[in-house]
Amino acid sequence: MTDDVRKRMFADRRDPGLFEEAAAFALDYLATQRERAIFPGSTALEGLRDFDEPLPERIGDARAIIDLLHRAGSPATVNQGAGRYFGFVNGGVVPAALAVRWLTDVWDQNPALHVMSPIASKLESVCERWLADLLGLGDGVAAAFLSGSSTAIFGGLAAARQKCLADQGWDLNAKGLAGAPPVRIVASERAHSSVLKAVALLGLGTDNVEWIPCDDQGRAMPSRLPSLDARTIVVLQAGDVASGAFDPFEPICAAANAAGAWVHIDGAFGLWAAASGELRHLTKGIDKAKSWSLDGHKTLNAPYDNGILLCRDRESLMRAMHSSASYILYSEQRDGMLYTPEMSRRARAGDLWATMKYLGRDGLDQLVTGLHDRARQFADELNAAGFRILNGVTFNQVIVAAGNEAETCRTLELVQQSGTCWAGGADWQGEKVIRISVCDWATTPDDVTRTVAVLAAARDQAVRERAARGLHG
Ligand SMILES: *Cc1c(COP(=O)(O)O)cnc(C)c1O
Repeated sequence: MTDDVRKRMFADRRDPGLFEEAAAFALDYLATQRERAIFPGSTALEGLRDFDEPLPERIGDARAIIDLLHRAGSPATVNQGAGRYFGFVNGGVVPAALAVRWLTDVWDQNPALHVMSPIASKLESVCERWLADLLGLGDGVAAAFLSGSSTAIFGGLAAARQKCLADQGWDLNAKGLAGAPPVRIVASERAHSSVLKAVALLGLGTDNVEWIPCDDQGRAMPSRLPSLDARTIVVLQAGDVASGAFDPFEPICAAANAAGAWVHIDGAFGLWAAASGELRHLTKGIDKAKSWSLDGHKTLNAPYDNGILLCRDRESLMRAMHSSASYILYSEQRDGMLYTPEMSRRARAGDLWATMKYLGRDGLDQLVTGLHDRARQFADELNAAGFRILNGVTFNQVIVAAGNEAETCRTLELVQQSGTCWAGGADWQGEKVIRISVCDWATTPDDVTRTVAVLAAARDQAVRERAARGLHG
């Protein structure tokens, strides 16, 4: 790097204007978030053309870059935190966590080793303890902080595979899978696609999965459980992505534990039900599992890039993530890389720590219970407006249909174009449906009523359009 360029970068770093401008743009976004379009309109999407340029040849102007991003980028965002975004299973952001993320981003810490960042190591330790406490999992549970549930499921199944093969006298890290004793995977028929991805990545083979049939809500049926043994990994879910239903953990974990099988629970958004006094019953029996994966960036409303793996068998997890875990067990301080596939990563536990510290037990209960209350309000008001509700609204998901499939699809299209709110579609028991997921702390009762009005108006238009087409052939 030439002295000139370095000088310029020192100047950027000391330039309060650059960071103040970035902050001013961000604050402008936050201040106007409730009024901004929920999904970008066509003008905003066309504006993305401004990014289509060749890789610049020369060092640029830092302020011009942030200007461009705000001018052309901010309008093309999906406004997930405004309270009227109900797509997929995404979440809003607790402001305290966002502010903490700004500061920790400036620190630019690497939590791989304690010696690389004592503060990141400390925050991971605190989150590990708080999460096990909040979810009622007992002492000694190990936590890994990863990018999302996909990597957390991968990590949980990797630990399970490690343990299953070690118990059969097979050193997986040294010998690999070729010639290894078999590992069985038993999973709920409604398992999330990320479970299958993990099974594939781990070389266990998706064709080998033995499925547990589910009932009409998407819950694994204990009566249909295949016979289990000590070579089996059972994958259950807390929160079906469509219906929000929870598998019956107590009987299945009891059968698995009696057989010496490992149970992993994919609870990306649903495991947080354990933080709600009213909803905790849905998670009954989760403490009998061996590993759990969940997302800070869904129900908890921490910013993105916050997956969590919890594992009762610390040693198997460490062996799975490290080829020679033996010497490291003596370490006094937490070295984050011992629990994750990555070595270097963002100090994301700061986001989780801030969210839990800010909300506390009571705030977390209110957050999770509140999402459920809004989902029930949706079901009641949509029902009154003539929609069909196809699931039992036990958590935060509502499956909605209009009079027939064509009307449902057209209604969804109009809602997605409205800019006022956004919901996604899904297939549910062979029918195309609208899926509403309430995940954002910012959703008020009024937001629900407003969204129901948009849905009803869209449905009425869909009905009129069909009638007109019918009349005119
Ligand atoms: C979202 C989700 C996942 C995947 O989580 P990512 O954080 O997107 O990787 C897995 N399982 C369930 C049930 C989910 O809702």
